[in-house]
Amino acid sequence: MGHPIGNGGREILMRIVKSVREMQAVCGELRASGSGIGFVATMGALHEGHLSLVRSARAECGVVVASIFVNPLQFAPGEDLATYPRTFVEDCRKLEAEGVAVLFAPEVAEMYPAGAVTTVTVAGIGDRLDGASRPGHFTGVATVVAKLFHAVGPCRAYFGLKDAAQIAVLRRMVRDLNFEVELVGCAIVRDADGLALSSRNQYLSAEERGRALVLRRALLAMERRIAGGLLESGALIEVGMAVLQGEAGVRVDYLAVVDADTLLPVSSVRTGTLVAVAAFVGKTRLIDNFLVG
Ligand code: AMP
Repeated sequence: MGHPIGNGGREILMRIVKSVREMQAVCGELRASGSGIGFVATMGALHEGHLSLVRSARAECGVVVASIFVNPLQFAPGEDLATYPRTFVEDCRKLEAEGVAVLFAPEVAEMYPAGAVTTVTVAGIGDRLDGASRPGHFTGVATVVAKLFHAVGPCRAYFGLKDAAQIAVLRRMVRDLNFEVELVGCAIVRDADGLALSSRNQYLSAEERGRALVLRRALLAMERRIAGGLLESGALIEVGMAVLQGEAGVRVDYLAVVDADTLLPVSSVRTGTLVAVAAFVGKTRLIDNFLVG
């Protein structure tokens, strides 16, 4: 049995599983009954971006499994692990309303029992972009996603293209370690004014929320120049930086023009090149990107 929780007098029927062993058993039964599992991994504080992944999984897979786990391994000391927004009951309602059959919501001690020392490091790629600014971040991501894949056994796993470097890291991990799963990258979901949805947007004051739009403006300026024929990366970065530096209270972490698979800088853009930005708006670190195409 799962753990039904109250929902305004109605019971939530989505099964909530806390242990890896139970998850493996439940998902094994789903596979044995012929259901291909579509999987969506999250850290909770769910918004329309997360739900778009669930909807894609629903459209393409027999059954949808999601996870909520705020993964301590992917936070560096001094980052926002302690304050990361947690809205578990509300998240459960949203996932159930989208037709998620099973939610995996383990405690930290279940995922990382005392004595656990094995990690997954994607060398090179994992040290680029966010991996350069947040040392150890992608080892934390790759390790938890590998463990989640072992718990769930999905045939397809859905990730947002907002975290473009994350997808590059995970694609390489899946290839190198022979995971039998297809990774599906899903379009970035934005607010009406263009800000990419993020659980961390909750940290922004009203004023910062306004300033945060500069990430999108910088990328759009670069996209327009590419459409106009400017392909040289250095010149494009100058265009984007000029926009970013025009906004007070915004500190650029990186603005990069890279190969979407290797995350290595390219000298000029072509179809499939990734243009990515990370910047602090006040204390909040936000990311956004687009693929040239
Ligand atoms: P998180 O809870 O931040 O770890 O995100 C879980 C998944 O949702 C990741 O695959 C993210 O890339 C994806 N995601 C987060 N925000 C968005 C967004 N605005 N649009 C599309 N996918 C998103």
